[in-house]
Amino acid sequence: MKKKIGLLYGGKSAEHEVSLSTALAVIKAIDFEKYEVHPIYITLDGEWRKGPQLSQPLESVEQLQHKGDSNSGANNIAKFIIDENGEQIKFDVVFPLLHGTNGEDGTVQGLLEVLNLPYVGNGVLASSAGMDKVVMKQLFEIAGLNQVPYVYFLRNEWIKDQSTILEKCENTLSWPMFVKPANLGSSVGISKSSNKEELIKAIQFALKYDRKIIVEQGIKAREIEMSILGNYEPKVSVAGEIKPNTEFYDYESKYKDNSTSLIIPADISELVESTMKDMAIRAFKILDCSGLVRSDFFVTDEGEVLINEINTMPGFTPVSMYPLLWQKSGLSYPKLIDALIELGIERYEEKQ
Ligand code: ATP
Ligand code: MG
Ligand code: MG
Ligand code: MG
Repeated sequence: MKKKIGLLYGGKSAEHEVSLSTALAVIKAIDFEKYEVHPIYITLDGEWRKGPQLSQPLESVEQLQHKGDSNSGANNIAKFIIDENGEQIKFDVVFPLLHGTNGEDGTVQGLLEVLNLPYVGNGVLASSAGMDKVVMKQLFEIAGLNQVPYVYFLRNEWIKDQSTILEKCENTLSWPMFVKPANLGSSVGISKSSNKEELIKAIQFALKYDRKIIVEQGIKAREIEMSILGNYEPKVSVAGEIKPNTEFYDYESKYKDNSTSLIIPADISELVESTMKDMAIRAFKILDCSGLVRSDFFVTDEGEVLINEINTMPGFTPVSMYPLLWQKSGLSYPKLIDALIELGIERYEEKQ
């Protein structure tokens, strides 16, 4: 019997487009002999559109968007589990290929829990804690993980008293500083600032995306990532280095300009590699992760390892770091999809 897979993609998120390319890649690679694929597109406005069941790969992102299908025009969150005859589709598993807010942050995971549907990847807690860079860093602190110093605040605090916040940044951190919306990904809303004037601009920019802002001490270091796969006994992949050709690894260098080199496996010492592995597992466990995680690290010239963040639904196209690291570790892209589906089902069954 083929497994019924609900593929969720798009999403009300600044990472909508990234999700679409992830979904197209998965649809191109998934084994249609094994799976019955039901695409479910979430528009940028948050409208859910169920497309027709797929029996072969699609060729373009446009085909994924189900423009003008019979379900459009209303928010069809409930309808997405109902088939043409009004029967509830018993998905064997739902695969949320969503990045950023309203998808990678526990909201969709919560919906799937309430609907009693198995799903791939991290649960509610890991997803939401992993999306909020402040909560994530506070948990990393508890786990004793080395990381850069940071300051955080909410929009209303900024509006009320900018100078105290700026003072706190200048007293706690040194230049350059990285300003980030607390809840996002793909470097959206992030900027590097080298003086007070730039810092103010960077904060105003980040506030367009979130009500919570984190300002981090900038670090001059190599950027190295690892992929984690599993539930209770997570496996760690080889390490991969990112070499952006830009000031930092921003949205353009991630998805647009092809100038970034990925070096897999990364040229690091055994000590750095084992330190990273240990930190990656501790990060995975402190956030109670399951399924998949990509851990992003900084490694200084002196060999100091700092964790930058984890991503609970990392970029997942065949040219993304997460699957590439697995490929170099001996697990192909289609096999990785199988493994993630199995882990999602395993996690669901354990809870029953
Ligand atoms: P994604 O989820 O796509 O990995 P993100 O939006 O969560 O990205 P980060 O990974 O936190 O953002 O940061 C994006 C990039 O900005 C990093 O890959 C790095 O190039 C740069 N960067 C972030 N924080 C720092 C820092 N403290 N010091 C130096 N560079 C930084
Ligand atoms: Mg991230
Ligand atoms: Mg991310
Ligand atoms: Mg990152």
